[in-house]
Amino acid sequence: MISLSEPVQIQQYVHEAKLQGKRIGFVPTMGALHEGHASLIRKCLEMTDICIVSIFVNPTQFGQNEDFSKYPRTHDVDVTFLRSLGVDVLFYPTVASMYGDGTPEILFSINTLDKILEGATRPSHFHGVVQILVKLFNVVMPDFAFFGQKDFQQLTIVKRMVKELLFPIEVITCPTMREADGLAMSSRNRYLNADERQQALFLYSSLISTQEYVKAGLSLSLIREKIVKSASAFPSIKLDYFSIRDSDRFDEIETPQNNTNAVALIAAWCGATRLIDNLYLNS
Ligand code: AMP
Repeated sequence: MISLSEPVQIQQYVHEAKLQGKRIGFVPTMGALHEGHASLIRKCLEMTDICIVSIFVNPTQFGQNEDFSKYPRTHDVDVTFLRSLGVDVLFYPTVASMYGDGTPEILFSINTLDKILEGATRPSHFHGVVQILVKLFNVVMPDFAFFGQKDFQQLTIVKRMVKELLFPIEVITCPTMREADGLAMSSRNRYLNADERQQALFLYSSLISTQEYVKAGLSLSLIREKIVKSASAFPSIKLDYFSIRDSDRFDEIETPQNNTNAVALIAAWCGATRLIDNLYLNS
């Protein structure tokens, strides 16, 4: 595995690889890697000739009171993991090399998708996500980029960004990897103590119950009432949002029955840790 930290080094590497007709795959991550990341990487290795993984804890997607400084950084373990998977190139830029040292003049705005759900609680989050992905895509120039369904709203925004900004990149969606008991894998799960880890199952069990409620003909309003009520049985859980949306248009669906695009999205604090999850309801 080649490790590169300067954007220009990656650009040169990719330029030469493309001259040789290689298809470039890209998996952007913030490190603290787990089997969820590995599933994206395996898909990338399967579909492309060169698999490039980036590790960059992007400061601009963290809010002021969020966990940027304490976000897990496990570089050596991550490097060993990436090697074992057979990754071709690791890109691990510094903040200075991605952002320079001044206040940026060019910023991106998002019209609607940053105002709801994750965006309502984390107002600047998706601006930071788009800002770094535009840079990473310009550096890595991939043919394919791999994202997890776990971050459903992010995935939706990335697809829109690629389409509207005319990036010649195909976005590949990879299913959510879960622990044996259903908890969605996340770098933030390591913040949970044993009791919180148990209570974190509230998210996945709510989504599974939602599938049943939908089958039984319940509306979103009724389902939400039930989810809010059930949250009170988990002392460490504070529900942030629960919604059922159309996966394409992203508008809320009051009667999700028979809608194959219906996806339930949930976010909750478990102790001090904010977790998210989602599930298609009728597929
Ligand atoms: P992160 O390092 O959290 O920024 O995540 C990097 C990529 O891995 C994103 O595309 C995530 O959606 C994806 N990812 C994170 N957790 C999972 C998971 N449990 N299953 C599948 N993909 C995931």
